[in-house]
Amino acid sequence: MKKVIESRTIKCDKEGCNYREDITNDELDKWRNKPCPICGSNLLTDKDYNSITAFYKFIDSPIYRFFSWLLKLCGVKEREYTVSTDGSGSIILRG
Ligand SMILES: [Zn+2]
Repeated sequence: MKKVIESRTIKCDKEGCNYREDITNDELDKWRNKPCPICGSNLLTDKDYNSITAFYKFIDSPIYRFFSWLLKLCGVKEREYTVSTDGSGSIILRG
């Protein structure tokens, strides 16, 4: 089962730009459509913002927690994943 480590780093997706900033999830709103201080690229597009907030809402839902609990009961080992986006609104899980 997926145990999600909430991503708390805003990073620039532009090639060659290494800008990154550690944030809390509460600060996500503030980063929406904010330009990168180095190259000016959009750091958090509306698409990414919408999918990441929907994703967090999902893993916080009773249904998700119920299935996590059920799988744990069945002996399914938890794995840790990191969550990221790439500007397209897709959620990328790495574990
Ligand atoms: Zn940048």
